[in-house]
Amino acid sequence: MKYVSTRGIEREGVSAAYAIKSGLAGDGGLYMPEEIPTLDFDEIEALAELDYPERAAAVLYKFLDGFEYGELYEDAAAAYGGGKFKPSPAPITELGDGKYMLELWHGPTCAFKDMALQIMPRLFVRAQRKCGEERTALILVATSGDTGKAALEGYRDVDGTRVQVFYPTGGVSDIQRLQMQTQEGGNLSVLGIRGNFDDAQSGVKRIFADEKMKAELDAAGIFLSSANSINWGRLAPQIAYYVSAYCDLLKAGAIKIGEIIDVTVPTGNFGNIFAAFIAKKMGLPIGKLVCASNRNDVLTDFFRTGEYNKNRELYLTSSPSMDILISSNLERLLYLTLGTEATAKYMSELNSRGSYRLSEEELCTVCESFVGYSANEDMTEATIRELWENKNCLIDTHTAVALNSANRYMNDNKAERTMLVVSTASPYKFARDVYRAISGVDIREGEKALAALYNRTSVEIPAPLSRLFGLPINHGRVIDKSDMEKAVREFI
Ligand SMILES: *Cc1c(COP(=O)(O)O)cnc(C)c1O
Repeated sequence: MKYVSTRGIEREGVSAAYAIKSGLAGDGGLYMPEEIPTLDFDEIEALAELDYPERAAAVLYKFLDGFEYGELYEDAAAAYGGGKFKPSPAPITELGDGKYMLELWHGPTCAFKDMALQIMPRLFVRAQRKCGEERTALILVATSGDTGKAALEGYRDVDGTRVQVFYPTGGVSDIQRLQMQTQEGGNLSVLGIRGNFDDAQSGVKRIFADEKMKAELDAAGIFLSSANSINWGRLAPQIAYYVSAYCDLLKAGAIKIGEIIDVTVPTGNFGNIFAAFIAKKMGLPIGKLVCASNRNDVLTDFFRTGEYNKNRELYLTSSPSMDILISSNLERLLYLTLGTEATAKYMSELNSRGSYRLSEEELCTVCESFVGYSANEDMTEATIRELWENKNCLIDTHTAVALNSANRYMNDNKAERTMLVVSTASPYKFARDVYRAISGVDIREGEKALAALYNRTSVEIPAPLSRLFGLPINHGRVIDKSDMEKAVREFI
């Protein structure tokens, strides 16, 4: 099975390994498998008897032609086994009223990015070898929080790779900054940038576009790559946990084989929810996908009106991983539902005008599977508080956006199907906001907020976060945004 560009301008298909090694297609589009493999009910029932690494390897094997099952299982076992995810990679918990939560934050950085970034570096190194690439990959990451730490943890000490992360000094939470500054590993560099996330991101883009830099790196045996969710190697592992959740619902007796469930996903770059859509296309019985946004409701408007318009203010919210105006993976949905021609046209309009509008007919096709909801800050806080007070269940701000959206969707549609709500971060990762939601008290400092949240709820703090405040700072350096090129040269 070949991979092709969503824009169809680059006509030749490429191998799965090449798609993973290169990230972006030559025409600026994103790589997609030429066809979506299928999954039937017998297979689902068989997968239900297996553990998570086996389920993940089986799903990946359907997509990654040129990779052997044994290789994929070895990678999945190394990524998800060995006690790295406690108690397990993707457990479900019952919320009552037909709702279940899929918890994806039990990995080393306490956010769902681990589900992809623990295995992607392993797939990436194999892809490099399969393509005959002998140079070292330098992965450059601009991060507003969760991705940077997850990439550092995933790529640490992985042969043939080095990672350099740039974060805005003012733009990440106390806990997120400490997570990155205390990172261990011999192939890593972490730098604070005096500026905001846009400064860090444009700096990285500038380096990617710099031909002189490229030649210098090449002479040093290095090529540049990225770790964000436009890379198929990051998306494919996310399909597996939807299949796994369905298996677990089956095993728990919550559903019967073939029974359709709905899924709600807190959405930023549209990677996580798109993986659910692929699972549905494969044959996993999923009905509606509720796309949950915070106050940055570009996607909610898109699914309601057909117009995607990024010309609007970006709000900073308590769910920062969803503070986004361009959801890159939406391009993959356009490709699957409308084809390459429409995708190329709309992406070019987005580039030039910052907006595009689907026809009525196109919108109907897209909305067969998707519906958009957005939750503002008050709704998010109230959802955290009510769930804590009524069910003794503590969730983070991103998950609260999703749960609030799921509740309203179910109410508006008198929906009776089982609803799977995706939980993307440990509540302790956003301790300040979660504590304020349940107590009304704002504690700015990360360590104190964490302790206060624990003292009030007695919910266990994940080990990677409770250990954090005693660790030595390995990466305390802060630089001017104009010195990013210099920092790359120093690092190689
Ligand atoms: C990245 C992230 C999201 C958004 O996921 P996308 O795949 O970008 O849509 C939601 N919640 C948390 C906690 C995240 O880190």
